[in-house]
Amino acid sequence: MLRTIAGFDRIGEENAFAVLARATALAAEGKDIINLGIGQPDFKTPGHIVEAAIKALKDGHHGYTPANGLLAAREAVARRTLTTTGVEVSPENVMIVPGGKVTMFAAILIFGEPGAEILYPDPGFPIYRSMIEFTGAKPIPVPIREENGFAFSAEETLALIRPQTRLLILNSPANPTGGVTPKSEVEKLVKGLEAHPHVAIMSDEIYDVMTYDGEEHCSLLTFPEIRDRLIILNGWSKTWAMTGWRMGWSIWPNQLYDKVRKLAVNCWSCVNAPSQFAGIAAIDGPQDDVIKMCKAFDNRRKVVVDGLNSLPGIRCATPKGAFYAFPNVKETGWAAKQLATALLDEAGVALIGGPDFGILGEGYIRLSYANSEENILRAIERMDKFLTK
Ligand code: PLP
Repeated sequence: MLRTIAGFDRIGEENAFAVLARATALAAEGKDIINLGIGQPDFKTPGHIVEAAIKALKDGHHGYTPANGLLAAREAVARRTLTTTGVEVSPENVMIVPGGKVTMFAAILIFGEPGAEILYPDPGFPIYRSMIEFTGAKPIPVPIREENGFAFSAEETLALIRPQTRLLILNSPANPTGGVTPKSEVEKLVKGLEAHPHVAIMSDEIYDVMTYDGEEHCSLLTFPEIRDRLIILNGWSKTWAMTGWRMGWSIWPNQLYDKVRKLAVNCWSCVNAPSQFAGIAAIDGPQDDVIKMCKAFDNRRKVVVDGLNSLPGIRCATPKGAFYAFPNVKETGWAAKQLATALLDEAGVALIGGPDFGILGEGYIRLSYANSEENILRAIERMDKFLTK
């Protein structure tokens, strides 16, 4: 009998991948499935980025790079950070990592152990809680409420901090709700955090370019008073439609940087070289495709919200960021997960039940509108038929 560590009895999953597998299997059986389940842009990576990777391979960039990433890639991230936030960061604080997830994995591993507490958003990206549980730390959900526009409440967050709190995880624009926390609330939170210097902060800003209706993303980087304990998670996956390239970056304070660098040396060695060249091209090249994609998401957002609000028993707040809608389905009489399963099996619409994002996700479903307007309209029609039958 093999004995493995207890963490593996607690580690979770991301149900979006299971739904994707099931939707793909149903489609392979010949069923017409509309996939609003997976959180990835339906656009292709812009051509000049692909070309940069091909060129890097042809130029012979086939070897290891430094564990923290090519200096040119880290400099590109520093340039991009200055453009988007107005904040100067040193390339010495930037890590190039294989995907956005790796930063949360590293941050949670660095702080999580039995006796420690880690605060995370609920509903929120499921891997936060899964990884916290893996380490043996206690996951403390920070409620993210519909009546608050799915933004963080500074007051509620600060009230949950205790001496054993090690790390606070923030995410705006947010998955699964599309919520954007306004600058005034972030300011309140940062002010309150001054009284808790033992708490590190990981701000997941992977959807930073995707905000709508004039809402502005407020990066935690813009607050110098917490810089020495702030980790920024970001990456190429969503902004440049590069989910499969596995390219992320993070910005670490001096006191933590060497820990994550050593983790890289022990685990992934480095990110593959041609992808890093692609990443540089993504940042330094034309942004027309990014702007076009965000505009398309904005248009679809209106289509999806109007459509959902026309359905019986469904009420959908207008999301201000990312590419998700998180409608309230309590009045349909269905439990959210059962509704998601029934919609896939009986209506051919793949989406995710809110409870897959936390206890407070009950009563909600998540739709990714990273799909064509035509498919979104077809999905709404099918949902209407299903709910009125
Ligand atoms: N953070 C959030 C909030 C996400 O929604 C996702 C992906 O869905 C990630 C991080 C992970 O991104 P990546 O695919 O680059 O690992």
